[in-house]
Amino acid sequence: MTPEQVLKIVFGYDTFRPGQRPVIDAVLNGEDALAVMPTGAGKSLCYQVPALCLDGLTVVVSPLVALMQDQVAALTLAGVPVEAINSGRSRGENVDSWRRVAGGEAKLLYMAPERLMTERMMSALKKLPVRLFAIDEAHCISQWGPAFRPEYAQLADLKPHFPDVPIIALTATADTVTQDDIADKLFGGNGHRFITGFDRPNIRLAVAPKGDWKRQMLDFVQAHPGDSGIVYCLSRKKTEEAAAYLRDHGIDAMAYHAGMDAGTRAANQQRFVREPGVVMVATIAFGMGIDKPDVRFVLHTDIPASIEAYYQEIGRAGRDGEPADALMLYGLGDIRTRRMFIDEEDSDADRKRREHKRLDALIGYAEAPACRRRTLLAYFGETIDPCGNCDMCLNPPEMVEATGEAALAVAAVVATGEMFGPAHIIDVLRGADTEKVRAKRHDQLDVYGAGAGRAKGEWQTILRQMTAAGLLSLDLAGYGGLKPTPEGRALLKGKGGFRFRLDTVRPAKAQKARRVAADIDLSDRDEVLLSRLKALRLDLARERGVPAYHIFSDRTLTEMAHRRPGNEEEFAELHGVGARKLKDFAEAFLLEVGKGD
Ligand code: ADP
Ligand code: ZN
Repeated sequence: MTPEQVLKIVFGYDTFRPGQRPVIDAVLNGEDALAVMPTGAGKSLCYQVPALCLDGLTVVVSPLVALMQDQVAALTLAGVPVEAINSGRSRGENVDSWRRVAGGEAKLLYMAPERLMTERMMSALKKLPVRLFAIDEAHCISQWGPAFRPEYAQLADLKPHFPDVPIIALTATADTVTQDDIADKLFGGNGHRFITGFDRPNIRLAVAPKGDWKRQMLDFVQAHPGDSGIVYCLSRKKTEEAAAYLRDHGIDAMAYHAGMDAGTRAANQQRFVREPGVVMVATIAFGMGIDKPDVRFVLHTDIPASIEAYYQEIGRAGRDGEPADALMLYGLGDIRTRRMFIDEEDSDADRKRREHKRLDALIGYAEAPACRRRTLLAYFGETIDPCGNCDMCLNPPEMVEATGEAALAVAAVVATGEMFGPAHIIDVLRGADTEKVRAKRHDQLDVYGAGAGRAKGEWQTILRQMTAAGLLSLDLAGYGGLKPTPEGRALLKGKGGFRFRLDTVRPAKAQKARRVAADIDLSDRDEVLLSRLKALRLDLARERGVPAYHIFSDRTLTEMAHRRPGNEEEFAELHGVGARKLKDFAEAFLLEVGKGD
């Protein structure tokens, strides 16, 4: 079969995604290839399609049992003969799998590197028609990367053992040093490189100042009814609190953090993966090794540690390429907490300085005065035009001249001794009558009440953005006091200027939820059918013990509800319906479509 035929007949897709075809061609040409593509770009098909075009066996190396099982389950549903040998299965199962592989019954074999790189396995494989090796998560081979796995280092011996078999290496995260390292170790520095950029254009980016975070969270989640999503919180306690709050408001939310017992954690993760519409409220401990393609939103209720962390966490949304939403809430308190984390870390001064700088970059992103994606990608060395799919592009902010206010804020900070946090400074500026003001006799100061013309919220915005702009700094000792920087002090002498961006805190609800397959306009009647189709999908998935999205994606069901296929021929035309799924599932879904309203 040609690649196009495999794509259509086996996977039910009409076209390759950008970047897939050149990689597939190189591999089919017998060349070694390194593919660096962002999450969700469709790396798996880059070796699965060649595996099905070639006449022998493809061996796939993957680091995690969970990822292997997920791939095997998906391929099996698509009717592909696939086997896996790993520690998640019994010895008997592994022996049976090997027998089928040796008997030529399998097209793909998944294995962990340490199983592959044994003398016995090497000589056993040499007797079989191995046509391709695929190394998933290839960055694990590099000592320079953050995810080095010693087992992966052994893969350097693969090429000497199989000089004529092409190797394809795949990863979502590899800077140039890591890329060189991968190419060196796996194919002696040769091979083709295919680097697709970091952009994930289907993820809408937004940042909002943190107010009543629970309310903001609820609004955001409610704007995505029935969708799967992840809410990240900084602390374990907060995940429990947030999950309970969402549940109280009728949302199917669960908590996930490292402090829970392993059984509950595994069960929660499995529900999230298998069933649609579950919201996971988690610390960063959640997400690694989860390949769920239909996560529709990611919310950060606290700022992440760095831009890299943020990119990776939002990257868990929209792997299927359909619209997804990422919202990050942040406030000055977050920045203080993060700075404290860094300072309390058991590390040298150099590392601390670097970590502070990484945090600065993230704050710069949060306060970006223009296209967010541009700021984000610039961090990774890519340049793009304004994206049209971020809060800044969609709703350009109004900039307000506020040099006078900024100078006033610096004066208030200086007059109170450079030791108070934003709340007290604002009280002083606005002339509030609080116990602290009276106790410190700050009502005697010239600046007392000098800023009464601006609301408290505006002052919060101004102080936050002055901090981001490097005019004020937050006391690193952790008490959260504000201090002026040299640039801030210069304002008092009439040097420099300051403009701030008016916060546009729109309720998330006003932003109408965008559906998957945004190009399809469903009538109310279609919506009713869609929810029936989803229920059927869940039943079928439960019967088979697989995630719902393995049966059909949301996009497929949306098309089905809209086009209402009347026979198998029409059903086969739907996105994601290959020959095997047509055979296995068309009847049940056609029946549901035909039931009428
Ligand atoms: P990655 O490994 O790069 O993160 P995957 O291989 O898991 O991405 O693919 C992400 C999703 O995109 C999967 O659901 C996959 O079926 C889908 N996909 C991949 N290629 C195509 C394509 N050419 N057309 C439609 N969907 C695709
Ligand atoms: Zn933009």
